[in-house]
Amino acid sequence: MRLRSFLLAVLVTVWNFPAAARASTLAEAIAGDYPYLESLFKHLHAYPELSMQEFKTSDRLAAELQQLGFTVTRGIGNTGLVATLRNGDGPALLIRADMDGLPVQEKTRLDYASSARQVNLEGVEMPVMHACGHDMHVTTLVGVARRMVELKNQWHGTLLLLGQPAEEALGGARAMVADGLYERVGRPDFALALHVIAKYPAGKIAFSDGLMYSSADTVRINVRTKATHGASPHLGHDPVVIGSQIVLALQNIVTREISPIEPALITVGAFNAGTAPNVITDLARLDVTVRANSEATRAKLLKSIERVAINTARAAGVPEDMLPEVIIAPDGAPTTTNDAELARRVRDAMERGMGADAFVEWHQTDMGAEDFPDLVNTTPPIPSVYFEVGGTAPEQLASGEWADHHSPLFRIEPELSIKAGVEAMTLAALELLRKN
Ligand SMILES: [Zn+2]
Ligand SMILES: [Zn+2]
Repeated sequence: MRLRSFLLAVLVTVWNFPAAARASTLAEAIAGDYPYLESLFKHLHAYPELSMQEFKTSDRLAAELQQLGFTVTRGIGNTGLVATLRNGDGPALLIRADMDGLPVQEKTRLDYASSARQVNLEGVEMPVMHACGHDMHVTTLVGVARRMVELKNQWHGTLLLLGQPAEEALGGARAMVADGLYERVGRPDFALALHVIAKYPAGKIAFSDGLMYSSADTVRINVRTKATHGASPHLGHDPVVIGSQIVLALQNIVTREISPIEPALITVGAFNAGTAPNVITDLARLDVTVRANSEATRAKLLKSIERVAINTARAAGVPEDMLPEVIIAPDGAPTTTNDAELARRVRDAMERGMGADAFVEWHQTDMGAEDFPDLVNTTPPIPSVYFEVGGTAPEQLASGEWADHHSPLFRIEPELSIKAGVEAMTLAALELLRKN
């Protein structure tokens, strides 16, 4: 009798602290699994692949998930894949990891640094490096899969783990959708994604309940003119001068046409023209990136760029049938915006499991973009949350000697960031797929 009431008291105590008990078990389980994940991470880091050529990476990811009992659908949008685990009736959750590296020569001197080279889609051999941390994303996805399989009795529904090609080229998500992604694996009710971020201390979580990233569009402006001798400019039109005026006039769009409290950015990243000092050529080519935080500003910028380019040439006297071509690339990325209600729900779940200390305040410090919205801006849209996990060792951040994304010196602190990424994502997944 006494023993029974003692056992009952123990049971009641445990019952009263289910969240805390679960959390410590989850963190412990992830810590126990970390050596496995670390060796996977180091392998992926040492063998990065370029956008749309993530052949071995997707092979490895598919093998890891297949081995856990997932059904893997390969070849969606080239190297893309989705691993499906059905666990009874319930909602479907998609978790996305991008897989590609960058054409960067690694200079970190890590013992698992990449010396990989790969021929890119244009046929040019390039050095390759995971200089954005997508190796951490793939590793984390595998870590989450391993936990979700083990915790199968705590959730119900369908888990869809997606390996995406070509995030860096901003075309991989679109390619997967165009290749029948949701017809092939089913449409999820929610979607989650993460990015390791160098500017935050390793293992700290940061996200907003609204905007995360800007939109990004690429515009090509071809300024065509009648060529002439460098000493006879009056017999033609000079595309170098007209192009230069366009470069400067484009900046006036940002400062004079957009509200001063609305972020907007136009960068002419490439200007190519001419062959010799004494030749006025017939073509100047401007390649422009355009960033905005809202669809309205995005549309306005793109419209104004066309107007400014065409009318600058017109003002220079270029004939009507030779006015500049303004080509907006069709693969632009919209803003990445979290669903407010879902973001709060996910944050609460993470906070219950990891504590308030696990977070740092999120703020936008540049106009970077993502192609994740191409996976979720469907009709109707799929509610989604995108969060960041700090990746730089705190002492390195404090010293100021850390390298940003896409640098040959980019390096993340794997242990803290992978453990936090797996824990935060697993807590979010358990919340969205939890049994009532
Ligand atoms: Zn990147
Ligand atoms: Zn990235």
